[in-house]
Amino acid sequence: MDLQYSEADREFRASARAWLKANVPQHSRPAEGFAAARFDRDWQRKLHDHGWAGVAWPKEYGGLGLSGLRQVIWYEELARAHAPHHINTTYVAMMHAGPTVIARGTGAQKAFHLPRILSGEALWCQGFSEPNAGSDLAAVRTRGVVDGDHIIVTGAKMWTTDAQYADYQELLIRTDPTSERHKGLTWVICDMKSPGIDIKPVRTMLQDEHVSAVFYDEVRVPIANVVGEIGQGWSTALATLNFERGLGFIGDQLELYERVNRAIDLASKTRLEDGRLAIEDDGIAQRLAAIKADCIAIRAMTLADIAETDRTGIPGPKGSMMKLMVTGTHKALSEVVGEILGWSFLEFDGDRTAHPWTYDYLWSWVFSISGGTNEIQREITADRVLGLPRSR
Ligand SMILES: Cc1cc2nc3c(=O)[nH]c(=O)nc-3n(C[C@H](O)[C@H](O)[C@H](O)COP(=O)(O)OP(=O)(O)OC[C@H]3O[C@@H](n4cnc5c(N)ncnc54)[C@H](O)[C@@H]3O)c2cc1C
Repeated sequence: MDLQYSEADREFRASARAWLKANVPQHSRPAEGFAAARFDRDWQRKLHDHGWAGVAWPKEYGGLGLSGLRQVIWYEELARAHAPHHINTTYVAMMHAGPTVIARGTGAQKAFHLPRILSGEALWCQGFSEPNAGSDLAAVRTRGVVDGDHIIVTGAKMWTTDAQYADYQELLIRTDPTSERHKGLTWVICDMKSPGIDIKPVRTMLQDEHVSAVFYDEVRVPIANVVGEIGQGWSTALATLNFERGLGFIGDQLELYERVNRAIDLASKTRLEDGRLAIEDDGIAQRLAAIKADCIAIRAMTLADIAETDRTGIPGPKGSMMKLMVTGTHKALSEVVGEILGWSFLEFDGDRTAHPWTYDYLWSWVFSISGGTNEIQREITADRVLGLPRSR
């Protein structure tokens, strides 16, 4: 990968910057609910209408087909412009459901779903985790019984983000009742408006209801909605998880750097109980410097990861290492901010605009669980990146 910016790269950055300056919404995103989903759809449609949607998607599927370096430039400019965060209700569709359909879907699935995702018309959610199948995803028990040209789904999923707003779901079910573990699973596209689906939102420490328990009572899913093959769902799910853990969080990785700069700014303006500015405290200053250095390392690793993905076409297990680095650094930054502001900043009424650092602190914990916990990312890193003996 050539890390020098060419003239064309610089022009790309300038045109992205100019477009974002003119088009980033002036009003902030509603905190949650259908108003937030509407805001996300509108922003996605605007990106689409102006030719900026799907920076990583191949051109033949309506994306921009940008090189890894150009994607980094785009996400850096998004962060710089304080554009709507890409981890929103369009995230699953854009960052892993769409890419999975591109990699494994049929022609009909691609033709129907990809344009709807890109334009913000269709939102998706992910139905992988269950009450007893989180880290151990191969323990999925939600049942699918083949009945003519349909699969009848019965069971329960847990922690489904944005289920109540989604039009479709990437749903992992067990279609072979005699199978165990990774065998006999199937990845299907589930229409969230299907009869038999019951969504029960769950209130979290973020003081919102963005995750839900989802119950399926004999929900009919057409066999035409199987992505990959019946019984081969584990392989399709791994592709999804690689997209999610690989480049799915690229924007967050790069935005972390902006956040460190904001924290340094905060430390330069906030006084500690003893009257000194926080930045005058050696411990705080040194930790902020170390975190900033880690962010620079993360950017370098992101570029290396992107170069590898450019070569292979599918993100590899190094995404797990990246997720560990990012969540660890995010948590470390949140801890320092806690010391700068005083720990009473953790009293949270749910207003994330008024208390962005509190929300960020709580989010740093969520991020180390969702998409696979840090313990599991360590296991994948040990096993598949470092080649160490398996622990189980
Ligand atoms: C805010 C949020 C949003 C989410 N959104 C979605 C979503 O949209 N769709 C979806 O499908 N899932 C979603 N998840 C679920 C998420 O993927 C799971 O919570 C996660 O995989 C952990 O599973 P679990 O909660 O069942 O915990 P468990 O798997 O029960 O883990 C409990 C603890 O044990 C540890 N542990 C488990 N196994 C091992 C091991 N082998 N070695 C070492 N430690 C281990 C874990 O690291 C963890 O600390 C979301 C979760 C959260 C918190």
